Amino acid sequence: YLERQATIESNARAYPRRLPIVIASGRGVVVRDVDGRDYIDCLAGAGALALGHSHPAVIQAIRQALDDGAPLQTLDLPTPLKDEFTRTLFESLPAAFAEDYKIHFCGPTGADAVEAALKLVKTATGRKGVLAFHGAYHGMTQGAMSVTGDTAPKIPAEGRAADVQFLPFPSEYRCPFGMGAQASAEISARSLEAALEDPSCGLLPPAALIMEIVQGEGGVNPAPDDWLRKVREITARHGVLLIVDEVQTGLGRTGRLYAFEQPDILPDVVILSKAIGGGLPLSVILYRRELDVWRPGAHAGTFRGNQLAFAAGAAAIRFVMSNHLERHAQAAGARLQSLLTGIAAETSCIGHVRGRGLMRGVEIHDPRSVGAAAGVGVVPSASAIARRVQEECLRRGLIVELGGRHGVVVRFLPPLVATLAEIDEIAQRFGEAVK
Ligand code: PMP
Repeated sequence: YLERQATIESNARAYPRRLPIVIASGRGVVVRDVDGRDYIDCLAGAGALALGHSHPAVIQAIRQALDDGAPLQTLDLPTPLKDEFTRTLFESLPAAFAEDYKIHFCGPTGADAVEAALKLVKTATGRKGVLAFHGAYHGMTQGAMSVTGDTAPKIPAEGRAADVQFLPFPSEYRCPFGMGAQASAEISARSLEAALEDPSCGLLPPAALIMEIVQGEGGVNPAPDDWLRKVREITARHGVLLIVDEVQTGLGRTGRLYAFEQPDILPDVVILSKAIGGGLPLSVILYRRELDVWRPGAHAGTFRGNQLAFAAGAAAIRFVMSNHLERHAQAAGARLQSLLTGIAAETSCIGHVRGRGLMRGVEIHDPRSVGAAAGVGVVPSASAIARRVQEECLRRGLIVELGGRHGVVVRFLPPLVATLAEIDEIAQRFGEAVK
């Protein structure tokens, strides 16, 4: 079947090269291919499927909208479904949002919302510069790519705008010169201060700093809470807006409904997509009222009124909230972390296990490489081992994705509805693949 598959032949340079399966259906954490083989899906729409595949709450909401004759597309115009979505989304956010923040619907993709956020902060401040972090991922459009770190081959040199300065992101593992995580966070905070105080950097003062709380595509790098509070304090002191990209972390993934709640900070702009659409395409930005500077029509687009996405998204958000899936993600994630750590202890090719909630990463290293033990000196062979592990996982019915600059981090993003038994099964299959 694969050989006859038109999608794979015509679209050969995308995922199908590394995940050569043809998915026919999905339910919960499992997808079934056209030959009837089941796989546990730890990619789950790159985190978009918080409730897994074909969740009854989402399916029912979509059916209901269709039965009610909802228009499929209404541009930016208000509708009852859009209203209900907005109300539900604000209910899921900290109370400050209902009072002080506005929402702007951005379109189908996360990158659409990143573009909107970058444009908004420039309009609001009259400044052009933006600060971003190495290892960051914000999307594949030109603006989003400009603030995305070095994740070759995704970022060609010609993709960057000139007015972005990159800063080091704290690391629990890959610390320069073998220093600890604490030192790494201090260096990162000092770099931020220096960038804002040094008149030679040419950006002064930048409009905003854009960041993820847990870098996803960059290799599942969580930022420490006290560092995040420091970043909030430094940016506020310098009058630089803080944009938090929660496209991947939002709606329970990290063990809190929103990852910025853990350090208890309030960003100036929040970017949301993926899970908030219940699996359908939807993205928004939320921003402080005083940033509401766009004149009507200043930021427009056609596909911002997907009524089925509003219905599916509202259902997904309600389900996550009423079942406290963020707490489940916390507990299930802790279990996954401990099982993965156990697997790491029995092999020499895993350097580090990390993450928050149900967003976990296992960093592969090649024990034969010089410096591997100190967390430095990634060599191409570690990437080859990671690819092999991914392949072996697939053979055992487990879909995982690779991340990080060198593709050496095996990423786990199972749906938040994964049971503890399913988490055990994921770890079991991964352990066998590693062996
Ligand atoms: N920001 C983050 C943090 C992401 O993880 C992603 C997608 N992986 C994006 C932005 C871009 O979203 P999209 O692929 O929908 O454009």
